[in-house]
Amino acid sequence: MKKIILITCALILIQAEPNWEKARNETVNLFQEYLRIDTSNPPGDVRLAAKWFADIFGEEDISFEIFTVPQDPRRMHVLAELTGMNPELKPLLLLNHMDVVPVDINYWNEKPFDGELRDGVIYGRGTIDMKSLGIMHLMALMQLHREGWRPERTIKFLAVADEEILGPLGTSWMIENHWDKLDPEWVWDEGGVGSLDSFSGMSAFAIAVAQKKSFWVEAVVEGKSGHGMRPYKDHPNEILVKALTKIVNWNTPLEIAPVVDEMFNRMGERIGGGQGLVLKSLDNGLVRYFAGGTIANSSVTTNAMLRNTISLTMLNSGYKTNIIPEKATATLDIRLLPHVEPEDFLEDLKLVINDDRVQFIPKRIPRNKHVSSWETDFFNILSDELNREKPDALAMPFMTIGGTDSQFFQAKGVDCYGLIPIMITEKDIQSIHGIDESLSVENLMMGTRIVYRTIKRVCGPGE
Ligand SMILES: [Zn+2]
Repeated sequence: MKKIILITCALILIQAEPNWEKARNETVNLFQEYLRIDTSNPPGDVRLAAKWFADIFGEEDISFEIFTVPQDPRRMHVLAELTGMNPELKPLLLLNHMDVVPVDINYWNEKPFDGELRDGVIYGRGTIDMKSLGIMHLMALMQLHREGWRPERTIKFLAVADEEILGPLGTSWMIENHWDKLDPEWVWDEGGVGSLDSFSGMSAFAIAVAQKKSFWVEAVVEGKSGHGMRPYKDHPNEILVKALTKIVNWNTPLEIAPVVDEMFNRMGERIGGGQGLVLKSLDNGLVRYFAGGTIANSSVTTNAMLRNTISLTMLNSGYKTNIIPEKATATLDIRLLPHVEPEDFLEDLKLVINDDRVQFIPKRIPRNKHVSSWETDFFNILSDELNREKPDALAMPFMTIGGTDSQFFQAKGVDCYGLIPIMITEKDIQSIHGIDESLSVENLMMGTRIVYRTIKRVCGPGE
């Protein structure tokens, strides 16, 4: 009898889950409180948000530290921890940023910093990017700690400043100054979401394992100035305009990075039929030749996943209508696929321009080449938990075309996974950095359950 009771108790302990109905109010309240703290960047002042986290960790008796960046004390980082029993295992790091992008209040129909809840939807800047995952990380940590659960693997929670400007005082600063306190096995960050309608009509969770790299370059031409009444050949503006015309018309070659290949394989498998076969065979030169262009043209996002891209973002020249200026500059926002070296791409670009009067001055040279493995315990358990909530959704590795803080950990060889575990639409995705950002309570709670269960399995005793 005693034995049966013991076994029953053990089973209850293993399967015990928080009362999610009860947790709902608390999660929503915390989310609303967090959204009401305006952490727009610029100015990127996260002191109140950091203090808010500190108060919660203090009340919950979860050990934490606060780091203030001396160069700018408005930048703070919060690191909390549930210490694992096995010191041999490197931690799982839950990474989220406290800052948000600013709002243009004239375009918003909702109030951006009120955390208003209406008909099951919460509105405000940061509801997706990324106070959502911050709250899910926080709630999971609190629940696990309240249960008295002791992980095998240490869990660290890191809320940072300055992600939205990817500045040197954000995650980079923590990595440079406090690596000994981080040094994770895996990082759970933002980067992808679950989408109902972004991927050929199937619902899918896109788990970011790689990202395009920002390579910023200035194109400069210097030469002779003169009077506008006496036009002459080959002045800087003319040379630069000719070069830029070639750049904007350059169709960079289609390239299928291994992660994109894997993503298309999984999508093709799911879709089946002729369309599925094409997706699965995109790494084949012939298929790419005939179908690649059509696929790339299907959306600007897909296009950006299949090639290195160049956006001409700034033009600067001249100071008076009747003066031909001696200098003209343009700024290029180049985004490279993970495996492409900036120097190699620049050589290709110079060949296309074929004019050595145009100088190219790199302003930001990315060095990260790391692509996280999609064959780790973390990736597998996360995929499994996503499918537990949404059995029909495809969980797949994904390359984000934007940049996140993961790049700084990936540059150190750490496997990072970017996913806010919510299921939304293209329209919702548009509201990230856009207007009327919002998230349903249903999504908030689903994400919280997924984060909780994934952490418990990833950091708990082996299965
Ligand atoms: Zn973000």
